[in-house]
Amino acid sequence: MDFEFSEEYRILQKTAQEFARKEIAPSVTADERARHFPRDIISKMGELGFFGCPIPEKYGGNNLGFLAHAIICEEIARVSCSLGVSLNTQTMGTSRTILEFGNEDQKSKYIPKLVSAKWLGCFAITESDAGSDVAAMRTTAIKEGGHYRISGSKAWISFAQVADVGIVFAYTDPKLRHQGMSAFILDMHAPGVSCSPDQGKLGWRSAPTAEIFLDGIKVSASQLLGKPGQGFAIMMRCFDNIRLTAAARAVGNCQALLDESLKYATQRVQFGQEIARFQMIQETIARMVVETDAARLLAYRCASQKDKGVSNNTREISMAKYFASDVASRMADEAFKILGAYGCSGQYPIGRLLRDAKLHQVLDGSSNIQKRIISTDALGYRKAHN
Ligand SMILES: Cc1cc2nc3c(=O)[nH]c(=O)nc-3n(C[C@H](O)[C@H](O)[C@H](O)COP(=O)(O)OP(=O)(O)OC[C@H]3O[C@@H](n4cnc5c(N)ncnc54)[C@H](O)[C@@H]3O)c2cc1C
Repeated sequence: MDFEFSEEYRILQKTAQEFARKEIAPSVTADERARHFPRDIISKMGELGFFGCPIPEKYGGNNLGFLAHAIICEEIARVSCSLGVSLNTQTMGTSRTILEFGNEDQKSKYIPKLVSAKWLGCFAITESDAGSDVAAMRTTAIKEGGHYRISGSKAWISFAQVADVGIVFAYTDPKLRHQGMSAFILDMHAPGVSCSPDQGKLGWRSAPTAEIFLDGIKVSASQLLGKPGQGFAIMMRCFDNIRLTAAARAVGNCQALLDESLKYATQRVQFGQEIARFQMIQETIARMVVETDAARLLAYRCASQKDKGVSNNTREISMAKYFASDVASRMADEAFKILGAYGCSGQYPIGRLLRDAKLHQVLDGSSNIQKRIISTDALGYRKAHN
């Protein structure tokens, strides 16, 4: 077990940090205020290979692995959680899912375009009445000769309205429940596919989110990902991968909250001294430092496991996702208090970081769902990984 980064990871981290500082930081406040999606920055991230870490070179990736992916995600999210979302829409939720379950034609057609960000991707599981209970989805894909007819709608889909390609889950045989679910690669510009206006969110305001409406669209059977009825298994693997990114994204958010707290506490003077000199502020800082590092180590552990070829680490991924999300939320509360009145002002980024922090606990599987996976495994009721 080695807790030190190799030279390769250090260089990668520095590259991502520099990119975030030069390319994202100057416009992040204005973009978040205007709810502007900075497509140009996503393109630059694609050019630098940020979306290609867990993807072989054959499909346009760089094969640096899952830990490299987590390091990049953390550094991007440290400056913008909105842009941190793209590590899932371009890589884990789409490219990696196609890599693991697609045929050769699908892999060579879609993955290079997604990894380079020439095309934008989305993955669509959630529906208005199917959130944590994914099996409650109503979207159907009915086989008609050589094609499928997909009808239904999806809700809260990141990048839906800007995406070129979507991984969409639907029932090909609703009677079979989990065994009757399938996954499709959808052309988001196809006739019959439409999106709602942006759903408008508390945080991550530069990352577009919308509903998708599928009005009986005709999809060739060649767009089926994996086998008919394999959709639920594909979704579970997709959850593992996107939750790993989600954990790293929350760690980036935690680090940003810590950065701002340290800066402010050493500048703000009250009662004749920096507020950082007060023991109660130091106690808060100590907890923030320790919890951020603990969250980071949990995220790195599951990424390293994946790099070593461990694919059944659902439990460790859920632990990382749950812990990092809850720490981000707790830290946002503490950071807000350290900044006092200035935490409420637009002059400092704490308000944005606080709004961003709340979202980790909801999406990519809520904290309760992660705790359910962890506890039922510990209790011996149901193994986290199959
Ligand atoms: C910004 C944003 C982006 C998103 N992007 C995507 C995307 O790209 N693709 C996609 O498919 N989805 C996406 N989602 C949807 C997201 O994954 C869901 O919101 C999430 O799975 C939770 O579903 P829900 O909001 O319907 O909550 P619900 O499932 O209705 O849960 C409500 C509350 O009940 C709790 N709860 C539910 N079931 C249980 C249980 N069995 N035990 C204990 N507690 C329970 C939950 O923890 C939560 O606290 C996004 C959501 C947001 C907010």
